[in-house]
Amino acid sequence: MKRSLGLLTIALISLVPILHESFAQTGSKTSTRLITLGTGAGPPPRAHRAQSSNLLIVNGTLYVVDAGDGVARRIAKAGFNVRDIGTIFLTHHHDDHTAGLGTLMSTAWDNQRTQPINVYGPPRTEELVKSAVQYFNISAEIRIADGGRTVPIAQVFRGHDVGPGIVYQDTNVRVTAAENTHFAFHTGAAAGKFKSYGYRFETPDRVVVFTGDTGPNDAITALARGAGWARIAFPRDASLRGSGIHAGAALEREVAANRGRCPPWALRPCGGRATRAY
Ligand SMILES: [Zn+2]
Repeated sequence: MKRSLGLLTIALISLVPILHESFAQTGSKTSTRLITLGTGAGPPPRAHRAQSSNLLIVNGTLYVVDAGDGVARRIAKAGFNVRDIGTIFLTHHHDDHTAGLGTLMSTAWDNQRTQPINVYGPPRTEELVKSAVQYFNISAEIRIADGGRTVPIAQVFRGHDVGPGIVYQDTNVRVTAAENTHFAFHTGAAAGKFKSYGYRFETPDRVVVFTGDTGPNDAITALARGAGWARIAFPRDASLRGSGIHAGAALEREVAANRGRCPPWALRPCGGRATRAY
């Protein structure tokens, strides 16, 4: 867990050149937006930053990538209703990427979400979702008794264990997962036991890649191929750059070749506009 504090999360956004300045065009027929809901790294609560979570909006459909503590409140702050979240992706199961999942699910149900919310992630995601449902089922039973709700909370939430490759597709996005090296330092019985992913989202007008927490990894570099815009959470300690917890020069080169501006460790919009960070 201590190591996760120093590891980085990177979101790379490639831009189709003709749409380079239209990142925030919400009124266009095809519109992809990314809002970084939480950018805090590691387990410690922070006064003004939520843990890792992102909201990708494609043609008005909401996709959440990671659900660290604070995700539900950040969604509200961004002006959206948790009830409208239908699809969630988890890069890995460290709690700073999952601690807000149960609250997000429960508050969506509290707000009369009755359609399924599907959660995709590495092995044990189904177990995680079932555990969250069990945790909040006591409250749900009380609220059903209170009146106004009839659908059992267990009917709404579904976890899916996925492997590398195409893990999801609908009319807005095609999502491809690749295993990263976040847990590569595990030894003994834990070696290879836990999986951590990066995701590539291909939308009609964008390619958005979330590397997740990772070290250098050819698979993630390949996943980011063609990226031309970077949005990166990176350790502020410059001494960490270039160390074993750096995503790697190859990935930086991949970004730089297509982007040509902004240091890849910057946590800020870089070449895009109107993306909010919390
Ligand atoms: Zn982690």
